[in-house]
Amino acid sequence: MIQIKNLTKTFHQNTVLNDISFDILPGQVVAIIGSSGAGKSTLLRSLNFLEQGESGTIQLNNFHLDIAQAKKVDVLQLRKLTAMVFQQFNLFQQKTALENVMEGLVIVKGLPKQEAKEIAEQQLKKVGMIERADFYPKHLSGGQQQRVAIARALAMQPELLLLDEPTSALDPELVGEVLDTIKKAAKEGNTMLLVSHEMNFVRKVADRVLFLDQGKIIESGTAEEVFEHPKQERTKQFLSTYY
Ligand code: ATP
Ligand code: MG
Repeated sequence: MIQIKNLTKTFHQNTVLNDISFDILPGQVVAIIGSSGAGKSTLLRSLNFLEQGESGTIQLNNFHLDIAQAKKVDVLQLRKLTAMVFQQFNLFQQKTALENVMEGLVIVKGLPKQEAKEIAEQQLKKVGMIERADFYPKHLSGGQQQRVAIARALAMQPELLLLDEPTSALDPELVGEVLDTIKKAAKEGNTMLLVSHEMNFVRKVADRVLFLDQGKIIESGTAEEVFEHPKQERTKQFLSTYY
């Protein structure tokens, strides 16, 4: 079970995450929705220490971290247990699709190259990119690059996959293929925390939805509860801008 407790993050006295607590059960997909500036990216980034919060605890199954007392070794361990997919794909430009997926397996997990290659090929197959294994990112479409990025993240078998608006940099006709890839990963039991503005997708894929507003989770529930029967005025107002 994944449990975030009392997570707080400030930037120059600006409280961006204000006492955030929530759980994610194994295999669940939890989606975070909310306006621009609500703190969604900061929340994801705090969970793998791309940002360091001031206080709170992170539990990833058997791993437990007190943010205020995190040592370097804890941060490295946390990063092994999480993987992140970014809006802008962030592939290594000088590496092929296959090499991108192999990189973490060799460098972080220390697998022999041949074994890493086999795992990477399997993952590329799953996201429908095996035919492009030897292509460099600049010769791939945005949707294809994002599918490689997802393969790279899944290859690490993270206990938690973090996805920050994985489709918002894509041309509309490429969004579908990435959403399908994420849906498939969800079906296969990967545990995910997803930030997305694609409300129809969130509704279909998320087991739980958290509405983040000014650094606080002000509403949470199943997709149906949050989308069909929001309790808070603020949630209703936010959702009305989408429908
Ligand atoms: P969007 O939907 O636009 O991506 P978001 O919900 O992801 O928004 P964040 O990027 O988490 O929002 O930002 C939350 C707040 O934290 C904003 O007010 C932002 O200006 C501030 N912030 C984020 N990163 C930094 C930083 N490195 N230094 C200072 N302030 C920051
Ligand atoms: Mg963001």
